[in-house]
Amino acid sequence: MKEIDLRSDTVTRPTKGMLQAIMSAEVGDDVYKEDPTINKLEKKLADMFGKDEALFFPTGSMANQAAIKLHTQPGEQLICDKWAHVYNYEGGGVSFNSGVSCKLVDGDRGMITAEQVEENINPPDFYHSPLTTLVCLENTTNKGGGACYDLEEIKEIRKVCNKNELGLHLDGARLFNALVKTGESPKDFGKLFDTISVCLSKGLGTPMGSVLIGDSRLMKNAIRVRKVLGGGMRQVGFMAAAGIYALDNHMEKLKKDNERALEISNLLKNQAYVKNIEPTETNIVIFYLKDTDKESEFMNQLSEKNIRISNMGQGKLRIVTHLDYSEEMHQYFLETLQNIDL
Ligand SMILES: *Cc1c(COP(=O)(O)O)cnc(C)c1O
Repeated sequence: MKEIDLRSDTVTRPTKGMLQAIMSAEVGDDVYKEDPTINKLEKKLADMFGKDEALFFPTGSMANQAAIKLHTQPGEQLICDKWAHVYNYEGGGVSFNSGVSCKLVDGDRGMITAEQVEENINPPDFYHSPLTTLVCLENTTNKGGGACYDLEEIKEIRKVCNKNELGLHLDGARLFNALVKTGESPKDFGKLFDTISVCLSKGLGTPMGSVLIGDSRLMKNAIRVRKVLGGGMRQVGFMAAAGIYALDNHMEKLKKDNERALEISNLLKNQAYVKNIEPTETNIVIFYLKDTDKESEFMNQLSEKNIRISNMGQGKLRIVTHLDYSEEMHQYFLETLQNIDL
């Protein structure tokens, strides 16, 4: 059996069809906005979300960081969950790139409520505290175990943002995993957010790339911010071709990733060595061992079977299913989990 790598859905390699799409892409210099395939991908995503514009970025972090810069000025504050990717996993970019602080909210599995947003807005007239100007949500949540927001809650958050003149950004790195589960449409999200970032290199399986989508009011500056961050690229249409291919061919496959994650989660629930599991909604399974001292022993037994998962610290173990995780691997993994001896 080939190695089964379940550390993240970023480990996928391009499929044959995707490689063909890359090889036959028509390209140009995207710094001059002359790459037809990039332009096509950007238009496709803008239309999909019912927004004016979209811009290709090398990474999701850069797309989020650019969005934060578009919404804020130095000294201001954004509101996000304490587990947010923008706060925890983007190298401190919020302060480095935008000079902005984060008001961290103690949400539920990475999700916050409209009420919590409202409570955490600094009174704009109270000049001693930073001015709150932006709310960042994540869907699905990464550290929260792939949890999906209730769209009704986001509508309430939107109302709070409107009332208080706050921008609303969505870190939608894994938004498509949520959409195939809930049946909601990209336009439902386009209507509610000012800016949305989506990753093409997670479940959709491209080698690289994220896209920031928004209205021209904000997006007109996005290309300059991307330049400042060093993200202007040349014949990157090869990667856009991979993205277009993935949107057309890999979207439905995300359902399988979600289903397999649920099967893993249901099986883990019945294993004596497992203490508890976060509810599994999409393609991420987060669970805790009864005896945390046995984490390395557990990981060793898996690696002897050529299986890798990740340890996120504080007792959290994480499994992420993806495009390169086949049915054969899935059956082998389920069997292995039942035979772990701790
Ligand atoms: C992966 C991810 C990103 C982007 O990460 P990059 O590695 O910079 O592409 C952003 N937000 C969330 C929630 C993620 O899981």
